[in-house]
Amino acid sequence: MSLNLPQPGPLALVALFLVLLGLETLRPLRQRKRPRGRRWAINFSLTGLAFVCGMLTVRPVALGISAWVENRGLGLLAALPLPFWAKIIGGFLLMDLTFYYWHRLNHSRPLLWRFHNVHHVDPDLDVTTSFRFHFGEVLYSTLFRLVQVGATGVSPFTYLAYELAFNAATMFQHSNTHLPLPWERALNLLLVTPRMHGIHHSVVGSETNSNYSVVFSFWDRLNRSIRLNIPQAHVIIGVPGYSLPRDNHFFALLRLPFWPQRPYWRWPSGRPALRKPGEVTDRSFILE
Ligand SMILES: [Zn+2]
Repeated sequence: MSLNLPQPGPLALVALFLVLLGLETLRPLRQRKRPRGRRWAINFSLTGLAFVCGMLTVRPVALGISAWVENRGLGLLAALPLPFWAKIIGGFLLMDLTFYYWHRLNHSRPLLWRFHNVHHVDPDLDVTTSFRFHFGEVLYSTLFRLVQVGATGVSPFTYLAYELAFNAATMFQHSNTHLPLPWERALNLLLVTPRMHGIHHSVVGSETNSNYSVVFSFWDRLNRSIRLNIPQAHVIIGVPGYSLPRDNHFFALLRLPFWPQRPYWRWPSGRPALRKPGEVTDRSFILE
């Protein structure tokens, strides 16, 4: 019997969104620079467009190729003599590791960064930033998903489980939720947390080019791209070259990748966004 009930996954994600929104409103981690109303209208518009593109391209392609390789016994996981449960865990880890490299590529390749930059231009960071991506980034990421899912051979079940975790992790790390420092330190041993991802959205280029992990934080530790030793009170969110109020407008953001690019890591005055050398602390130790 088929029941026309809402799926538990999307409902759980909506509930998580509301909980994080409540928590970041009650006790914000970083001070806001701009009022929320206008930013939210822009973030929801970009998210809506990205969501429609994702539902039309990324999702059907990923699920289609996943079923196709599973039926034919293709992909890395099919070639490994592993029990059923190990293939699920291995597939989950492979999805997260490949996303780490994909995110890194979006920062290091100038053409990809033109699009990914739109996500980083948000002058504040909260749960509404989670899925504010240029629709172009969503469209070209379909090609990555095709290779990712085809080469790893993850099953549709693993793909859907990872998709749920990916979306929940993305909302959690973008949220401006103030967790008690000991909680965040403990959680961050395994997962990407709000303080860690806040540094990934810093106006200092070397800090944005760190902390690429999505669900598990250990990929950054293993690849030596972790950067945790910046107190959040010292983190300014955004991209300095695109920090004028008129830069964070819906149409300005849509055309941003197609326009001549400004120096990303300099303020409009021309001054570079740098951090003064402070005392040297352990890069993998979270500060308040
Ligand atoms: Zn990024």
